[in-house]
Amino acid sequence: MHELPELENYRALLAEQFAGAQITGIEITNGKVFQASEEQIERDVVGKVVWFVERRGLHLVLHLDNGKRLLLHLGQGAYLYRGSESDKPDRNVQMKLHFGEAVLYGVGLRADDLQLLTVKEVEGKLGRLGPDALDKRVTVDRFIALFAKKRVAIRNALSDQNVISGIGAAYADEICFAAAIRPDTKVPVLENEAWERLYAAMHNVLKEAISQGGAGEHPFFEGDSLTGKHRNHFQVFEREGQPCSRCGAVIEKIDVSGRKVYACPACQQDEGLIAL
Ligand SMILES: [Zn+2]
Repeated sequence: MHELPELENYRALLAEQFAGAQITGIEITNGKVFQASEEQIERDVVGKVVWFVERRGLHLVLHLDNGKRLLLHLGQGAYLYRGSESDKPDRNVQMKLHFGEAVLYGVGLRADDLQLLTVKEVEGKLGRLGPDALDKRVTVDRFIALFAKKRVAIRNALSDQNVISGIGAAYADEICFAAAIRPDTKVPVLENEAWERLYAAMHNVLKEAISQGGAGEHPFFEGDSLTGKHRNHFQVFEREGQPCSRCGAVIEKIDVSGRKVYACPACQQDEGLIAL
């Protein structure tokens, strides 16, 4: 799983390791993963310096010194590893981005997971997404307004990237739990007090997960002791059958409009209902 905290962890690690570094080569073992031509790679990638690394919702963007962008997406099971020719992942590697002796490995990448784009093309792809969940301009009022036209369950609206970006299945469940809101509550019936709890929960849950290196399954480099530490701190996600840390009831896996959702049936009773 790669949601906002996992990608924010990668963003920070990539920036620390590669901001200011020159790309000295790129090897792609599956051409579908990165469909740039040899000519484009020679002209726009090799020899270029990574100015900085940005996270946009669920994507990572490497800004190159020629104004071009490398847009990276990590699907289910994919991960990044910073090593060298001798220190490498044992699994099937699709991408090797060389920075002198350092190598950034991409494992489990699929078609078009790496793209060479102009600034305008990045906007074309990501510009229609909702604002980032941790964007400081998203105040509680703007947060509520983002959901104005939604009629679905709050859990599913939270993980809709066109409403707000960065939250997927795991953290949507965790946010509903932290706010003590029933995940299947329909958006239109939530009252202001419930929205305020959701807004605070979103910040607390995501920031705590970031501080614990997210929940990724693979270390970013040999000896990396931070990445993935949050995995043991989920309160409800993938914890069905285990006791709730807040009330002791058994966590359930339920179906909310076709999505698997984890929740506590006892302490997530609040439907945040407006008096009808
Ligand atoms: Zn509970």
